[in-house]
Amino acid sequence: MKPLIIRDTNEKIYPTKIICLARTYRKHAEEMGSELPTEPILFLKPPSAVIYSSDYIVFPEISKEIHYEGELAVIIGKNGKNIPKDEAFSHILGYSAFLDITARDLQSYAKSKGYPWSISKGFDTFAPISEVTKKEEIEDPHNLNIKLWVNDKIKQNSNTKYMIFTIDQIIEYVSEIMTLERGDIIATGTPEGVGKIKKGDRIILEIDKVGRLENCVT
Ligand code: MG
Repeated sequence: MKPLIIRDTNEKIYPTKIICLARTYRKHAEEMGSELPTEPILFLKPPSAVIYSSDYIVFPEISKEIHYEGELAVIIGKNGKNIPKDEAFSHILGYSAFLDITARDLQSYAKSKGYPWSISKGFDTFAPISEVTKKEEIEDPHNLNIKLWVNDKIKQNSNTKYMIFTIDQIIEYVSEIMTLERGDIIATGTPEGVGKIKKGDRIILEIDKVGRLENCVT
């Protein structure tokens, strides 16, 4: 398992889990034909899926359709359980750019059967993540441009201000369920514009001041 690397330091931290949110941007819920949730929708990715910028995303043999989803990730710095909203930011170490790679055909099948999403979200290499930028360098995590290109064509262009839950709300909610531990990753969901990628494609994700990812599919 690959550790997260804190930018401008040699410090490495190991996530015990990757918590992902679904449908946190109205327009993405619309493009998926999904209802907007009233509470966060969570799923987990295994930390074994983590890769770095410039590593390859491997197209799984059992899927015919994989998608990119560009997301802001929150990295936990201090363990906590039942963290109240007003203490949430003290538990954050920093932020990263994150790709929630998804085998959309396997996810659609799982949705149709009422099965979990673990297969469609959990393949090795399905969690590219940038180095961690410390929170002190990010003035307002709720106002960051998030842009994604596939082969130099812009596909996603949004801002974290359009998230329907705030980061402190998300931390409060998640930590009621599971202890958040240092190094854990919370992927806050993707804006509209998701789509297919194929072998040979190059994906670039940039989030203002937070980080940049560049990954090719093989
Ligand atoms: Mg996602």
